[in-house]
Amino acid sequence: MTYFFVILFLALMAYLVYFNAVQARDIINSPYNERQDNFADRVIRGSITDRNGNVLAETEVLEDGTEVRHYPQGELFAHVIGYSSQEFGKTGLESVDNFNLLTSNAFFVEKLKNEFQNQKNRGDTLVTTLDLEMQRAASDALGDNKGAVFVMEASTGKILVMLSKPSYDPNQVDDLWYVLNSDEENSPFLNRVTQGQYAPGSTFKIVTTLEYMRENPDYANYSFDCTGTFEHQNFVLPCWTRSAQGHLDLRGSFAQSCNGSYANIALTLDRASYRKTAEELLFNQKLPSLLDYSRSSFVVSETTGDSELMMTAMGQGNTLVSPYHMGLICAAIANGGQGYQLYGHGNQQERTPKLPEADDGTRGGTVKGIYVRGRKRGHGDGFKPGGLQRGGQNGNGGVQPG
Ligand SMILES: [Zn+2]
Repeated sequence: MTYFFVILFLALMAYLVYFNAVQARDIINSPYNERQDNFADRVIRGSITDRNGNVLAETEVLEDGTEVRHYPQGELFAHVIGYSSQEFGKTGLESVDNFNLLTSNAFFVEKLKNEFQNQKNRGDTLVTTLDLEMQRAASDALGDNKGAVFVMEASTGKILVMLSKPSYDPNQVDDLWYVLNSDEENSPFLNRVTQGQYAPGSTFKIVTTLEYMRENPDYANYSFDCTGTFEHQNFVLPCWTRSAQGHLDLRGSFAQSCNGSYANIALTLDRASYRKTAEELLFNQKLPSLLDYSRSSFVVSETTGDSELMMTAMGQGNTLVSPYHMGLICAAIANGGQGYQLYGHGNQQERTPKLPEADDGTRGGTVKGIYVRGRKRGHGDGFKPGGLQRGGQNGNGGVQPG
């Protein structure tokens, strides 16, 4: 009988260890789980900063003990940082990193001391790769226009700027949520960087060029004489210059962004193969992103007509893409064809491999794609920036530069 209890006890211990090590993160991280709130009873939600330590979100404790989440930059980072509201839940990194913000990696002794003094521990500070000054510059440049700015350091995959307008003040979410949520004209909650769907325009010529190069190993011999307009069947297509761009090879067609030449190229392409290339570049596919995003769509198929095909080749067909996705493609090109393997959050499906040493010689935590998770203990020391895994030819960007 004694043995039975010993075994039962050991089994229970094993389960608790397993739960804490493996399952707790997912369960606590679920926005639907009320355990979060129990957690928040013992930990003051950690801060979120930019890469230079500028505070983007912090929790202030009032004299009566009330905790208020404060966003010193107001509207500037509303979409990427998100909000944390008792009533309306969490978005952005506030949601994605809920677990870490409510976890303290302060020294054990310090935590114990706080417990004895009946004081709460501070959750970890989340150090992002975002840059306050750059985000501000982007915001000034965009002015009152609706739109998005996305800046990624191509050599590391770090995201420096993620700006979307119109925005909202996350400090006022509790008061204004219903107003903001019903504003269909401005959609202030929409993160246009990752959720916006736009015609890619001439940036899509990147994809078309890649497909042409794949189908034609002798692409260096391509030539086209631009007269300023391109005609095919009943379709007349002007070049953006409205005048002849002259004799162009493939490189020249790309550099001059000649619509006529791309219509001409389009007519030679194998539709199924074109689609396959687009899908290898993650059109119609999941994107590596922890923030909510919309899939980009590419709809050319065997039955697509010539005019639609020509429009698609220059980014004006039914193709839709997010600025985030286009940024990933450009970064892959800047890296000589290597995309970044952006890992997920370490849940079972996306268990992350151990990270190799990063460029700056540090060994990181989980790669977020969107930011590096810096671990900063409750009171400031011991911060270590995360690393970044550079992917091989992994389908994120098999782009070969011309
Ligand atoms: Zn032209």
